[in-house]
Amino acid sequence: MKSLDFSSLEIAPELIAVVKELGYEQMTPIQAEAIPYLLTGKDLIGQSKTGSGKTAAFALPILNKIDLEIENIQALVICPTRELANQVVTEMRKLGRKHEGLKILALTGGQSGREQAQSLEKGVHIAVGTPGRILDHITRERIELGDLQVLVLDEADKMLEMGFEQEIKALMKELPVKRQTALFSATFPEGIQSLSRSYQRNPMKIIVEEAEGQSASIQQVVYDTEPEHKLETLMRVLQQHPSKSTIIFCNMKNTVNEIAEAIAERDVVVGSLHGDLEQRDRDRVMTMFRNGSLPILVATDVAARGLDIENLELVVNYDLPNQTETYVHRIGRTGRAGKSGTSVTLAGPRDTMKLLEFEKLTGGAFERPTLGFKNQLGLNKFAFQPTMQTIGISGGRKDKLRPGDILGALTGSDGLKGSDVGKIEVHDRYAYVAVAQGAAKDAFERLRNGKIKGQKFQIKIMK
Ligand code: AMP
Repeated sequence: MKSLDFSSLEIAPELIAVVKELGYEQMTPIQAEAIPYLLTGKDLIGQSKTGSGKTAAFALPILNKIDLEIENIQALVICPTRELANQVVTEMRKLGRKHEGLKILALTGGQSGREQAQSLEKGVHIAVGTPGRILDHITRERIELGDLQVLVLDEADKMLEMGFEQEIKALMKELPVKRQTALFSATFPEGIQSLSRSYQRNPMKIIVEEAEGQSASIQQVVYDTEPEHKLETLMRVLQQHPSKSTIIFCNMKNTVNEIAEAIAERDVVVGSLHGDLEQRDRDRVMTMFRNGSLPILVATDVAARGLDIENLELVVNYDLPNQTETYVHRIGRTGRAGKSGTSVTLAGPRDTMKLLEFEKLTGGAFERPTLGFKNQLGLNKFAFQPTMQTIGISGGRKDKLRPGDILGALTGSDGLKGSDVGKIEVHDRYAYVAVAQGAAKDAFERLRNGKIKGQKFQIKIMK
């Protein structure tokens, strides 16, 4: 049995100190397997899911290896979506916070390519991005990869699913042959094995068994409905299962909008997430959902990918996903970390076969209760009252704002109680802070009338 103790790793003491500060008590299974192996410099193909701790599994060996004196890209992480890329950047920055002068850059679409080029010009140690945008920088000769030592393909199966094969191949041609390549994937179809054969050398394969009973804490409920009554059924489901954090999954953007409107009409705060939103809007919605300001989120699968949330109480499958794996992925967002969760699926007469498949794969039996009938289809908005409210600030990292500055501005000189301040997220040019519902007005006034780090910003309560 491998040691799960971070201090058993032969890595820089400051990395072990950071991990302790972050409250990671012991390594997750993928970390215990992958980190010691990656530290030897060899290639690895690992099975992993979001929530398994895979980011730290590759980030710690990378951070251990980076030479800060060399201001060229030494590690490149390729991800299928912007959200995942941003999440990886956040986790790497957290883990790298004792590496003075460490520069990690996100290279994703939806953000200015010119600004990215300027940052590349100034020197970057680690780049994390999506295939298209990285390739674009390569084609325009804006990126220097001669010093690359480590390449990570994260959620490789998703990249193939999303049609990035050509981009990945083109990209690979530009990378130094002598490098370490780590590939992470939730599944290993032929496409992934072929990627591995083409671009890895004798990789070690790591498969982490799911802990027993992991899905046992998810209650899976199915309600029968007819397509023409679906929306009505959904409202009943929400009446029956009030929760502070619900995701409703749909297969199409139009359905997302339709449902979000129907819920908003019933005076419940709701957010929607689909592929056509601007990056900034997505960031806002995800932030608000994660920090407790949005009780309900309606989303398509692609848009919700990479949205890492703990404590999701309810997942609703408004539409059945086309692939069994998507179902597992969706319901896996609830019942995390030993907490119990509920998944509700609305099924039509034609869905019987699919349901049987899902049941088989998850190993849990579906419950099929009848849905209580209520005459009025309103929602009890108090049951969905968000606990927090998000305040937007028109300044970010580029204005040298740090989370501590915002916290200080809120809590300083007889201000809010620290316990009333929730998650603080600082982006390049704007920041969000979550504050307890009852303290929101006060927080807003303080920020609007006062200064943060000596500067005035525009302050907005986000809706
Ligand atoms: P990931 O699977 O990389 O998306 O990580 C899921 C979450 O677990 C992230 O929020 C990490 O910060 C957190 N995490 C990673 N490793 C550990 C650990 N060993 N103990 C506790 N939390 C962890």
